[in-house]
Amino acid sequence: MTDPDRSSLTRRALIARGVAIAAAPLAGMTLATSRALGQPQNEADVVIIGAGAAGISAARRIAEAGRSYILLEASNHVGGRTVTDTAQFGVPFDLGAPRLNMPAARPMAAYGRAEGLDIYRAPDGGRLYQDGREAGDADYEDFIATVRRGERAIVAAGDAGRDMPAARALPDLGAYGASARFVLGPFACAKELDQISTVDVSRADEREGEDICRQGVGTLVSQLARPLTVRLETPARAVELGPRLVSVQTSRGTVLGRTVIIAVPPSLMASGKLRIQPGLPQRQRTAVEKITLGAFDHIGFRLPRNPAGLGVDELIYFRAEGPRAYALRARIGGSDLYSLEVGGDVATGLADSPPDAAAAFVKAALTREFGADTAARLGKVFATRWSKEPWALGAFSCALPGFGNMRRAFTETVAGRLVFAGEHAHETLWGTVGGAWLSGERAAKQVLGLIGVRSG
Ligand SMILES: Cc1cc2nc3c(=O)[nH]c(=O)nc-3n(C[C@H](O)[C@H](O)[C@H](O)COP(=O)(O)OP(=O)(O)OC[C@H]3O[C@@H](n4cnc5c(N)ncnc54)[C@H](O)[C@@H]3O)c2cc1C
Repeated sequence: MTDPDRSSLTRRALIARGVAIAAAPLAGMTLATSRALGQPQNEADVVIIGAGAAGISAARRIAEAGRSYILLEASNHVGGRTVTDTAQFGVPFDLGAPRLNMPAARPMAAYGRAEGLDIYRAPDGGRLYQDGREAGDADYEDFIATVRRGERAIVAAGDAGRDMPAARALPDLGAYGASARFVLGPFACAKELDQISTVDVSRADEREGEDICRQGVGTLVSQLARPLTVRLETPARAVELGPRLVSVQTSRGTVLGRTVIIAVPPSLMASGKLRIQPGLPQRQRTAVEKITLGAFDHIGFRLPRNPAGLGVDELIYFRAEGPRAYALRARIGGSDLYSLEVGGDVATGLADSPPDAAAAFVKAALTREFGADTAARLGKVFATRWSKEPWALGAFSCALPGFGNMRRAFTETVAGRLVFAGEHAHETLWGTVGGAWLSGERAAKQVLGLIGVRSG
């Protein structure tokens, strides 16, 4: 089937529109320079909190400008919501983002290729299964048209400034309504549609495709951090904005900076795990409270023998009858590893259940979609629980209804010293690795401006 619409039916393209931001190539940086700049010290031009994609990109830019930084990371590894595991299945399994959104992440992909990583274009679009077999062309077109109709209704409401729950903007979607609701809500935004702002969705930028890294997106992001000095297992607990300096209390003492970049998810600030003193201005406080992270998880599992002629890295949608919907990533990297993708209430419910609930969920899904014989071959199952990860507390952000305009607050400088970075701090590429990366570059430019360095 060659319907051109298929090429854009990916997680974020479904809510996407507008002009993509052109990304600058990664500037070269010598190891020696950055090492020298990252010497253990307790004072620097910039303290960066969080070594995910955003914090790493900010640190690279600051080092490149010849300025000093201290990069603090709470966990024992860099990458944050990009992390590749090989222990569970013996092959790379991205526990966080498995795909890089283009064109925003193109410089990251180019760097990875130059480092010898195998980065390739994800298969375009997806396939639809129903009643135990692949849907015919007419059904597939009906499904796509339904998703598009829903998307257009949400975007139209957002464009008109009607910032309301996306669910309320939807017309009657007919036979593929439940599938379309899953695609537009839990799959694209990690939330049910009644928790999603129409304005936030209407501002999302279009993707022109996605890349996959055979060694894992987490592997790529951690390689991008290699030239940097990162203080692992050093959570920042409080940021104090003084008249001349910023002081950051960590589990290993206090560090000082002329400026600070906070590159942690808003959930960490909302939960009080990272406090800012004196309190943030009202705009930023509202943004922290209302740009919340949704739930999205991968349930990885081994399945010997391809159940239905599924292609490598193919994305499979299913006709859903109710809200317990999912998608499938097939034959990851050409292996017999698959991942059932769940979001919103289903992901929250599974994360709150005992570990064997995920295996039971997969078994029921395989039985329903491919038959009991296929389900009987189910091997090891391992599920992520991003809403329980202590340094994430969720998967990715989407504004609550009525607050689609608040993301901008995360791009503004606070008290002349504090700048935010992270996927949540990109107005049009939120929820993506590429958006997080670009937000780090923007934040670096802002703080360099604050300390009087002109940057390109
Ligand atoms: C399951 C899942 C699937 C996804 N799929 C995709 C996809 O296919 N494509 C895509 O583009 N995006 C996807 N995303 C989103 C993408 O992973 C994120 O948008 C991006 O990685 C966020 O980067 P970040 O730097 O903003 O935040 P993070 O990666 O969360 O980095 C923040 C860092 O700060 C650290 N930290 C937190 N608190 C503190 C503290 N107090 N002190 C010090 N350090 C702290 C954390 O440990 C973390 O390392 C997915 C996310 C998930 C969870």
